[in-house]
Amino acid sequence: MAALGLLGAVLVGCGGQAGETAPSKEPAAAASPSARPSAAAAGPKPARAPAAPPTMAPGPGGLTPVYARRAADSPKSAEKVVALTFDADMTADQGPRAARGERFDNPQLIATLRRLQVDATVFMTGRWAEEYPDQARSIGGDPRFEIANHSYSHYAFASPCYGLPTVPGPDMTADVQRAFDAFRDAGAVNVVPYFRFPGGCYDDAALRALGPAGVTAVQWDVVSGDAFAKDPDAVAEQVLDGVKPGSLVVMHCTRSAAPVTEQAIRRIVPELRARGYRFVKVSELMSS
Ligand SMILES: [Zn+2]
Repeated sequence: MAALGLLGAVLVGCGGQAGETAPSKEPAAAASPSARPSAAAAGPKPARAPAAPPTMAPGPGGLTPVYARRAADSPKSAEKVVALTFDADMTADQGPRAARGERFDNPQLIATLRRLQVDATVFMTGRWAEEYPDQARSIGGDPRFEIANHSYSHYAFASPCYGLPTVPGPDMTADVQRAFDAFRDAGAVNVVPYFRFPGGCYDDAALRALGPAGVTAVQWDVVSGDAFAKDPDAVAEQVLDGVKPGSLVVMHCTRSAAPVTEQAIRRIVPELRARGYRFVKVSELMSS
């Protein structure tokens, strides 16, 4: 029971019920220098304080920029495009569960995205790539998809975060790099320098710690609610209600914990196309 509870919390943190209000508020607050007076007052100023809100370009030495968005702020907000993203969650200590047969992958979902010709971004944990190297290579070798980084361990980069264990600050960059190494070892090719914080949890310290990793952190504006959902229509309706031009949707590619995602996609895709939407990868959504 305890393990199930933790998994539930983890996936909720990645875009479930509890995350519905946080993502739209938290990123803006954390990404705007004017919104962190307490941090500025609490300690010495960083040597290189950002003069403007972080941009979308990864930069050395500074704060990790956050694509902390409302659809209205998207470079593509004037176009009927939407980025579907799928978090391939597997936490570093879940190996024994996978060994007992629990499936953290969802090959049927990937097959459906291919059949429907939907471009998409998979935010993959390094641990997932180690468990499913053939799938990581296949996803990362298909021009329709790109693999972005969801950490190696799926541990939290800021605390508290839905009960997740926390990555110590000095280890954060190494954890991100270890995921990139896992993608490379699996033979994945289409790997992009975007990063999603486990649970979507971050703070200024995490953004500073990740500066050397050269990634852009990516949140979302539409929560699908697919974690532990039983009704694919409810998931589909939540997405269809939320999508605006330039939206970024968070879903999951973890079958055991998001079992109706593939069914929901079969409804979401044709309905959004009927409304005139085109599906893009995150890297295209962010190109202006
Ligand atoms: Zn996740």
